[in-house]
Amino acid sequence: MKLICIGRNYPEHAKELGNAPPDEPVVFLKPPSALIPHGGPIRLPTFSKEVHHEIELVYSIRRHNGRAEADRVTIGLDLTARDVQSELKQKGLPWEKAKAFDGSAYVAGTFTAVESFPVGHHIEFMLKKNGKVVQSGHSGQMTHDVRSLIAHVERYMQLGNGDLLFTGTPAGVGPLVAGDRLEGYLLGELLFDLQVA
Ligand code: ZN
Repeated sequence: MKLICIGRNYPEHAKELGNAPPDEPVVFLKPPSALIPHGGPIRLPTFSKEVHHEIELVYSIRRHNGRAEADRVTIGLDLTARDVQSELKQKGLPWEKAKAFDGSAYVAGTFTAVESFPVGHHIEFMLKKNGKVVQSGHSGQMTHDVRSLIAHVERYMQLGNGDLLFTGTPAGVGPLVAGDRLEGYLLGELLFDLQVA
């Protein structure tokens, strides 16, 4: 099972980090060991002083008639050691230390079938930190939609059943400290409630 992640896929978020929206999707991977067990808690790594929350739509992949499709959708967290990432970016080095560490990913346990949405429907999601909305967005704001993302990723690596595709975060990312509480909502429904240890 792979965790495939897309960077800078919401123009407002690319802007807040000072990045130009890319011409083609930015792709990176997390290992399965990145996954936080269901219910948490989030454990901040000792090597970073600035771990940011990024809530994202996460699609599970199914192969059907030899093609990869977005089968079901949920929300997840792409936790990012922003200080480490900035240093790596400056040096032109890969991002794994900032993005792929153990405990850097969360995927909610409840998925919704993609085909249950009418064509063109915008899937809304949001993140509350300590009871306040910090990030909100919908699938219609993505620069590259999930179909084009899958097609793009498959130019480089085949996607398999159960692979999870993180599709980028909307604006509003910010740092986490011990004791923070994160609540993730998909279509107005609470799908996760996590504490930072
Ligand atoms: Zn992200």
